[in-house]
Amino acid sequence: MKLRMLLCLLSLSIFSSARMLAQSSFTVGTATAAPGQKATGVLEVPAGSDAATAIPVAVFQGSRPGPVLALVSGSHGTEYASIIALEKVIQTLDPAQLAGTVIILPLVNIPSFEQKVPHLNPVDGKSMNRFYPGKQDGTQTERVSYVITKQVVERCDYLVDYHGGDLDENLRPYAYWPKSGNARQDAITRDMVLAFGLDHVIVWNDRPKDPNASRYLDNTANTRGKPAIAVEAGYSGTVQTDDVAMLANGTFSLMRYLKMLPGAPAMVEHPVWFSKVDTVASDQTGIFYPLVQRGTYVEPGMKIGYVTDYLGKTIYEAHAPVAGVVLYICGVPSMKKGDTVANIGEITTTP
Ligand SMILES: [Zn+2]
Repeated sequence: MKLRMLLCLLSLSIFSSARMLAQSSFTVGTATAAPGQKATGVLEVPAGSDAATAIPVAVFQGSRPGPVLALVSGSHGTEYASIIALEKVIQTLDPAQLAGTVIILPLVNIPSFEQKVPHLNPVDGKSMNRFYPGKQDGTQTERVSYVITKQVVERCDYLVDYHGGDLDENLRPYAYWPKSGNARQDAITRDMVLAFGLDHVIVWNDRPKDPNASRYLDNTANTRGKPAIAVEAGYSGTVQTDDVAMLANGTFSLMRYLKMLPGAPAMVEHPVWFSKVDTVASDQTGIFYPLVQRGTYVEPGMKIGYVTDYLGKTIYEAHAPVAGVVLYICGVPSMKKGDTVANIGEITTTP
């Protein structure tokens, strides 16, 4: 009798401690993933002054405890390589191998994707990476941003925002290291960038510090104490195997750095750091002809492209204002006064 009672108590305590160690299920929007499982669903964004929308979400709940990592792409719905990279991660990530939780939003800006409209959400004409933390009573972009802030950013521990060259941008892959001024957090985001594996890195020093005016998604996470980075690959509407692989492999390497997947991350050892990005804007409307490629090293004064009128007369010459690397250059002939001709990164050896 006594022995049976002891055994009973023992098994109860084993059971309850196992329950305490075990993962519970994790819900985002309509997706609830049980431990060791993947679930898909949507984040519902109710109608307001304009239409409702529903953002697709995949949730991977590991069988072992660990951090919550959020991965978001397609706030610019025609930066295709980054969207396809997260589609690939959704198809290949194995929740049985995972420690912790992964939340994936592969396509935030559905109207942009469906209507092939670059840069903006065609529903309200706003960039979907400039209105964070969002507003519950704003236009669609602001309401989407609000729902993502509440249901994804506030519930994650780490975040990555994926971008690339848009339909008109011939872009060389790079990452952003956003420096917050908090040494501990900056050390983590630096490691996240190096673990992701893109070997050109822009150091972003002048990010908004106010969490209520965070503007960008990664900055919304960083100003809430959650280390976050942004990565860019792909260009001009293409879905190149190399660009997709770079972003998908970088994601798995980052999960190894965060100890969410077994194995060691592949850290970049000697990245090219950029302390500043200079934008060259056209002062004429007309037809743009580039003279350099993405990734080209330029010297101050070097001619990087020109604009003609619609009958072939040159009306503007674009010159590099500084020495550096062409991070992207306009990839199409359409050129409007004030539009970006190129972004040039200034190299630093002391990031
Ligand atoms: Zn973008």
